[in-house]
Amino acid sequence: MLEIVQLPCLSDNYGFLVHDTNTKTTISIDSPDAKMITEALEARNWLLSAIWNTHHHFDHAGGNAALVERWNCKIIAPKGDVKFIPNADQLVVDGDEVSLGDMTAKVLHTPGHTMGHVIYWFENENIAFVGDTLFALGCGRLFEGGPEDMWPSLQKIMAMAPETMIYCAHEYTEDNLRFAMTIDPDNLDLIARGRHIKTKRQNNQWTIPFTLAEDLATNPFLRAADPAIRKKLQMQDASDQQVFAQIRQRKDNF
Ligand code: ZN
Ligand code: FE
Repeated sequence: MLEIVQLPCLSDNYGFLVHDTNTKTTISIDSPDAKMITEALEARNWLLSAIWNTHHHFDHAGGNAALVERWNCKIIAPKGDVKFIPNADQLVVDGDEVSLGDMTAKVLHTPGHTMGHVIYWFENENIAFVGDTLFALGCGRLFEGGPEDMWPSLQKIMAMAPETMIYCAHEYTEDNLRFAMTIDPDNLDLIARGRHIKTKRQNNQWTIPFTLAEDLATNPFLRAADPAIRKKLQMQDASDQQVFAQIRQRKDNF
């Protein structure tokens, strides 16, 4: 069985320890805060065997060196981002599989936020660690890629089972909600989810993880095909990718 420990760190990041209870193997998805990750491991008497990096940004790979020093763990890093991630032991590309004890996660290349960005998908367990590609009601900024990179990346996630639990790396949900309401104001699922999100945040609760099904129904970035959104944007004849690009551009200026 997989046990996941979620660690709020830095200003709005989440770190994740993923532990296989059978073999007592533990990996860390990214390394936002080496000290917090180390304390969480020590509190449970777990050893860190590897870091699985999603991309090269400092709030994702910045703790790599300190964790290797403390735990002598391996670094698994996306091939496309490796020039910014020193000392990687294993480079992964789209379609690779990485193992955690008896379980395997599929590596999906999701360029856009960075060109090398990958996500780790435990398909049998319906769990995906998506880094900064997808957020609850949002998606990553296009720092390195364009909509022509990011839209196909999001489609890879959209093709997963709807019950997949999505673990993204930032608590941006409330901001994303404000923006989503400007794009899809009449969406009853979004209005209901928004109420739920506000209550959670008022009580200092996390909105991560969430199910893909929830986001498919409410995240405007995944709803480029939706007739109401297209009408609102006056883009009835555009391609899904063009609609996505327009929504991303509006969010950048929001
Ligand atoms: Zn990032
Ligand atoms: Fe980030």
